[in-house]
Amino acid sequence: MLVVQLGMLTPHNMQARNMMEQTLLLIKPNAVKNHHVGQIISMIESKGYIIRNIQSFRFSKERAEEFYEMHKGKDFFARLIQFMISHTTVALLLEKNNAIEDLRELIGDADPDKQLPGTIRYIFANGVTENAVHASDSKENAKREIRLIFA
Ligand code: ADP
Repeated sequence: MLVVQLGMLTPHNMQARNMMEQTLLLIKPNAVKNHHVGQIISMIESKGYIIRNIQSFRFSKERAEEFYEMHKGKDFFARLIQFMISHTTVALLLEKNNAIEDLRELIGDADPDKQLPGTIRYIFANGVTENAVHASDSKENAKREIRLIFA
């Protein structure tokens, strides 16, 4: 106990530190326009996420297309980009144990028919495109997206 209080690394707290993860949350244009930023951040903070960085900006077409490059060629791509450049986005760099998986669960599904009550999208989405938030879906994508937004 004394060892932990002094901040020394024991096998137990080393494991806890290793589990700390960073992920990216975007509060998308419809949620910003509808003044839901504060409520969404409150939901995030109540789940124990630490906000390591926060930024408010408007996507250019080029930057939005780079961010969503994995969806290039899909039928909803043009609509998605038009929406993402339509108004301000608020980006948060978040940290917590198991942050990536837990945040995906908290935001809920992109498909309105699959959204569970209590999830951020269930509460704040205005349809499948204007779905209020984005959260990184893997370690690899979190790294890439954090670099794109906060580099
Ligand atoms: P997620 O945001 O949950 O990771 P996807 O990566 O599948 O979902 O899609 C990225 C974004 O593209 C979604 O959040 C949504 O804004 C938009 N989108 C996805 N599927 C559709 C669709 N069928 N029609 C319109 N927009 C869509």
